[in-house]
Amino acid sequence: MSEYSDVELVCSDCNQTFVFSAEEQERYASRNFSEPKRCPECRQNRRTQHRQAPRRFGGGAAVTAAAAVAMAAVAMAAAAMAAAAAAAMAGAGAAAMAAVLLGAASKRPGR
Ligand SMILES: [Zn+2]
Repeated sequence: MSEYSDVELVCSDCNQTFVFSAEEQERYASRNFSEPKRCPECRQNRRTQHRQAPRRFGGGAAVTAAAAVAMAAVAMAAAAMAAAAAAAMAGAGAAAMAAVLLGAASKRPGR
């Protein structure tokens, strides 16, 4: 039924191999996500960090690119309601989103 089969990928954070299951591959493909670069644990860690990061960079116009990327990842994850979204969007997609967010943030009044 499925054209996908489980593959092993190497996490770019902890260098451990993890299984990218056929089911996940199908879900990623249907959402046009690229394959995950990190294992589920590291993805979860990054999501937790991302949720806290914007607060640290808070300050209206002085939004750094890093904070924008973090916000983009969180926003995408929330929109997609997918635990893996943050990691999947960490590449070119997040960069594009960051540009959009940076534009929006600079137009928005600080407080
Ligand atoms: Zn990892």
